[in-house]
Order: sequence, then structure tokens, then C-alpha cells
Amino acid sequence: MGKVIAIDGPSGSGKTTIAKLLAKELGFGYLDTGALYRAIAIALREKKVAPEDNDDKIKRVFDNTVIGFNNGKVFLNGRDVSEEIRTTEIDHYSSVFSAKRIVRDFLLDLQRNAALNNDLVIEGRDTTTVVFPHAQKKIFLYASDEERARRRYFQFKEKGIDITMDEARKNILERDKRDANRDIAPLKAAPEAFLVDSSNLSVEQVFKKILDFLRTDP
Ligand code: C5P
Repeated sequence: MGKVIAIDGPSGSGKTTIAKLLAKELGFGYLDTGALYRAIAIALREKKVAPEDNDDKIKRVFDNTVIGFNNGKVFLNGRDVSEEIRTTEIDHYSSVFSAKRIVRDFLLDLQRNAALNNDLVIEGRDTTTVVFPHAQKKIFLYASDEERARRRYFQFKEKGIDITMDEARKNILERDKRDANRDIAPLKAAPEAFLVDSSNLSVEQVFKKILDFLRTDP
């Protein structure tokens, strides 16, 4: 089992950017767990599964589903879905389906096995609390609603997705609310996590803060 650095936090807090930088700096593997939940949402939507459908229907899809990841890319039955998963529709359905126990259980071993043979930076809600409760290092990133909405807005714009600032704000707040209030693995900071408010910090400043934390507390 390798060393694990787990980064948790709400959408738009900067988890992905920081996790990638950290993995590169330390020479660790990198896993974006949100991408796995997004790929599952695509698999379920393609098989016409609705959120209110029962677990048997979901299980039948899972029996024929293989999720893979490599070098920051995510694969659904061998198909690269890394771009397809980044839509507002999948923002919504990944959050809705991820509240189900059967979905979370399906992805648990996959996430844990990612650290079997190498050191790992893993990011996503519940990675510090459920997936790796004994991670060597835990970080919880957060930022104000306004700043997270602004970041999401520019991310969409960059991808050519037409969205207003208000829609970007609703998108993240609706997901935060669902992710924080679900019964299973809700979004929350582990008590021992190093907390970083990235609202008024540049990427470089956040990165430095985290590197300092890792170095002073080896
Ligand atoms: O991180 P990202 O925004 O890509 O995640 C998409 C959705 O997947 C989140 O809104 C959340 O509902 C779910 N998710 C989760 N647990 C994780 C990662 C993501 O429930 N570890």
C-alpha cells in the first residue's frame, strides 16, 4: 500500500487543479474520484436508468460496466469519456446518482485499489472520510460561494458551454446542498484535515500553503 494524500472539498474549491499539481510535484499517482461518479452517471443515463429506479436495474447496468482510469483520463467500457463527463447534465446526474449506496459501493474498491501499488493523490468528496479514513495526509479545500461560482462560470466558458453567472452559481449550490445533506458519505471536513480557504488565494499560493504543510508535518 502506497502513501495517500486525500483532498476533499466542495465543487469549485480547486481540488482538481491542486491535486494534479501535487501529484506531479511529488511523483505520486493521481485520481479524480468525481470523474468516476461522472462516468457512472453516463453509463446509467445511456441505459435509460432514472434516479428513482430500483437498485436491481442499476445493478444490471453495473454487471456490464467497467470503469477505468489512466493519466487523468477516465474510461467507460474502454471508451474515453473524459470530455463527455464535463457537462451541466452530468454535473447534475453524477450528484443525484452518487447519493445511492449501490453506486458508492460499486466505486469503493476501485478507488482503494488505486493506492495498492503506488503513492497516490486522490481528490473528491468523502476521500478523507470514507475512502481513505487513514490517509497519511488530509486536506479540505473550500472557497466562498461567489468565488466558486466565478471559477465554474469561466471553466464552462472555456469549454464553449453557454452559461450565465447565475446559472453557474445555482449549479454549484444545488450540488453542494445535495452532497452535504445526503445520508451516505456526505461532504464534510474530516476533523484532522488541514483546512485551506482558497477564496482570495492564487493557485500558486494555495499550492505553496499545502506544500509547506506537507513539509512541516512529514
Ligand atoms: O468532483 P466533481 O464535481 O467532478 O464530482 C461530481 C459529483 O460526484 C459531485 O457533485 C458529487 O455528488 C459526486 N462525488 C461524490 N464523491 C466523490 C466525488 C464526487 O459523491 N468522492
